[in-house]
Amino acid sequence: MLSIKFSVLPLLEARKRVSHTVLARRYLSSTSTPILLPDAHAHIHNTPCPPTALSTCEAPKICVMGTHLHDWPVVERLSQQHPNRIVPGFGLHPWFFSESALESTTSTHAFTLLTQYLHRNPTAVVGEVGLDRSIIRPKLPTISRFCPSMDHQIDVFTQCLQIASQLNRKVSIHSVRSPGIIFEILRRMENPPRRITMHSWAGEPALVRSFVKLKGVETYFGVSLKQALTGKFTERVAALPEDRILLESGADAVGDVDDKLRKICGLVAESKGWTVQETAERSSKNLKAFLAET
Ligand SMILES: [Zn+2]
Repeated sequence: MLSIKFSVLPLLEARKRVSHTVLARRYLSSTSTPILLPDAHAHIHNTPCPPTALSTCEAPKICVMGTHLHDWPVVERLSQQHPNRIVPGFGLHPWFFSESALESTTSTHAFTLLTQYLHRNPTAVVGEVGLDRSIIRPKLPTISRFCPSMDHQIDVFTQCLQIASQLNRKVSIHSVRSPGIIFEILRRMENPPRRITMHSWAGEPALVRSFVKLKGVETYFGVSLKQALTGKFTERVAALPEDRILLESGADAVGDVDDKLRKICGLVAESKGWTVQETAERSSKNLKAFLAET
């Protein structure tokens, strides 16, 4: 947590936005502001989470994204323990499958299982799914063993989208250096999923306009601290339509959710020229609209 706090502020100072830096510092260090921030994307199941852990967390809603066959049962259990607060997500993340190493996720079995999980969990979204061009580069030692080709990623992603569409589910989409391909896949689908979130959005403003105009699809844009550490954060957030912004903690533990949400809320408020309260209200309203049944 501290490392994030101290790495965001120098970035803001580097932009020579002194008054905004002071403002952001106040938001970022605030721990007492009585605002309720829902979380559109987290992986809190990655850290063992006793049933009482959520009692100390303020987020009224947390969308918890499963990323591979083996974490779906954990996500499902968490949502059964907290049906009003946890929105479960079941997906096949491109980091966790490959043509040779994890063949079970490429078989029909994975898609049959995904369909079963979705049927059993009527509020569940499909996620996290998506495309990642960074992992097909050979010079990534840490994750190179999970190295599915782009063709294979597209195949798995497209099948997940089709299942989401058939079962009328929302989709949370991981996209690294691939928003243009994702846009094309959705544009060419006869029946695309009705609502998607482009998780941890890092695309250019022109692409935002294209996604917003995409026929038959309502696109939301998740904003997370991961992107706040990169350049162009302010102009990217400024380009997002106010009714399509979602706040994401991306947290791997429930104890980090509130802190990360408060920080990203402060930065979005600063980028949009909104108050923290306005930002909280808009993001809550937007998440409700994204998750709405109709
Ligand atoms: Zn994620």
